Amino acid sequence: MSKQLILALSKGRILQETLPLLADAGIKPIEDLGSSRKLIFDSNLEHVKLVVIRAVDVPTYVQMGAADLGIAGKDVLLEHGAEGFYEPLDLEIARCRLMTAGPVGSRPTHARRRVATKFVNVARRYYAEQGIQAEVVKLYGAMELAPLMNLADEIVDIVDTGNTLRANGMEPREMIDEISTRLVVNKAAMTMKHRQLKPLIERLQEAVVSRRAA
Ligand code: AMP
Repeated sequence: MSKQLILALSKGRILQETLPLLADAGIKPIEDLGSSRKLIFDSNLEHVKLVVIRAVDVPTYVQMGAADLGIAGKDVLLEHGAEGFYEPLDLEIARCRLMTAGPVGSRPTHARRRVATKFVNVARRYYAEQGIQAEVVKLYGAMELAPLMNLADEIVDIVDTGNTLRANGMEPREMIDEISTRLVVNKAAMTMKHRQLKPLIERLQEAVVSRRAA
């Protein structure tokens, strides 16, 4: 195993909150991630490279050891399963809630509820725990549309301000989990590259703690 560390970052909304936190921890890409089509970037730390990939792919890269560590939302980690990596640190950014939601004022009446979501594993687990029979339909986006189009009675989705739900005549129902962004580390790397990983994890932890105090 090379002693180089590969840190996988989630593209999009999480990246916007991750970069300032990494900067606080003294980790900076040497070029602007946004204005490049590149996917692998050098950082100011000689032994740390950054890769920018879709959030849902981060757990796979880290689990398989293609990346030594990664930054991903807890929603993505819950859906993927936690095999092959540790989750040593809550970065306390991109907070939101994973919730069920449905059309305003309606209550699901079907004995067997139809649920649209991209979080199919989370949804199946949640409804089973509640003792509710649910047929879970996988969608890749615009979950709010599904009840309006009679594709589903309910959705499972991420809610932040609730504006997306409201704009589509929907309201939040039950909370499934509180979500924030986590640091994940490949299990083998944690042992084999401990000497390189430990100071990096500590820097990030210090950045999280000092933000809390701010
Ligand atoms: P809002 O309208 O503020 O409730 O935001 C809801 C939408 O924004 C959801 O459909 C999500 O796709 C997205 N979203 C909000 N917060 C996050 C987050 N922390 N991570 C990923 N997606 C998010």
